[in-house]
Amino acid sequence: MTLTENEIRPEALMAEQARLFAEDIARLMARRDEFITVPCPACEAIQFEPAFEKTGMSFVTCVQCETLYANPRPRTEHLADYYRHSKNYEYWSKHIFPASEAARREKIFKPRVALVLEICDRFQIPTDLLMEVGAGFGLFGEELRRVDRFRRIVAVEPTPYLAEDCRRRGLEVLEKPIERIQPQDVLKSGESISVIASFEVIEHLFSPREFLTQCAELLTPGGALMLTCPNSKGFDVQMLGEKSSAVDVEHLNLFNPRSLAGLMEACGFEVIDTQTPGKLDAELVRKQMLNGGLNPDEHPFLKQVLLEQWEESGAAFQQFLINQRLSSNMLLVGRKV
Ligand SMILES: [Zn+2]
Repeated sequence: MTLTENEIRPEALMAEQARLFAEDIARLMARRDEFITVPCPACEAIQFEPAFEKTGMSFVTCVQCETLYANPRPRTEHLADYYRHSKNYEYWSKHIFPASEAARREKIFKPRVALVLEICDRFQIPTDLLMEVGAGFGLFGEELRRVDRFRRIVAVEPTPYLAEDCRRRGLEVLEKPIERIQPQDVLKSGESISVIASFEVIEHLFSPREFLTQCAELLTPGGALMLTCPNSKGFDVQMLGEKSSAVDVEHLNLFNPRSLAGLMEACGFEVIDTQTPGKLDAELVRKQMLNGGLNPDEHPFLKQVLLEQWEESGAAFQQFLINQRLSSNMLLVGRKV
């Protein structure tokens, strides 16, 4: 099944979104003097090379594991304030998400549910309690409940109006950050958390290490953590650099499959599966070629594939990126040791 960018980010709405996002960014970057320098969020090395700047945020590359990360970066309290007052997210919630909900449900969330169940089957992960961290609008939980495989589903969503969305869909919600959740807040007697799923969350966090450590604390031994996030060594980010939509002030941590695996292992997981199921790389790079962000004449081979032969070769090229783990969106599965 193909997925186009317009289905999930309707073009007619994106100009207003861009304006509101620019306002949010300006508000965050006004506090740049208070940002702090951090070691690599994956391997803790302190040596890095400057990569680029985007909207005032400096990104660097770890010399040891090649994680691309924002440094210096906003502190946890800056981020909490940023998301609480974000006009961009409010607009997403009121306009973009409702306009794209049907396409997202069919093309993102149903396949995601199928993928989670396939992984549970393949690795014999128990389907007792699944906790989704960063449940957003609640579509994953809603679709997962429909297939009736997990005994219980709990949505963790600290943002009040998103938590409300999840409740409206009939999901059980914990409205606080995962870092502040104790097992006894969730578990009834005899229960254990066998899966934690977290989609497009870890790249936003000040401390991914703290997040993963907490996930390991909450999971039962043998349980699985399933994470998706951008892959900075994928085609889209490698080709477009700071012009990639994966690079923005919110994505503080742009891991690659190896660096994220290393971090998961350091936090108590054995990595049992790595995939890059992203579907949009080829289209995103093609668009930059069409709108002048990338000069096709400097990339004659890609000009051929992404412009001249797009109809015949575009989908197959994206499938090649997926098969070879070269897409810019990745999924890692860790089993709690
Ligand atoms: Zn590193």
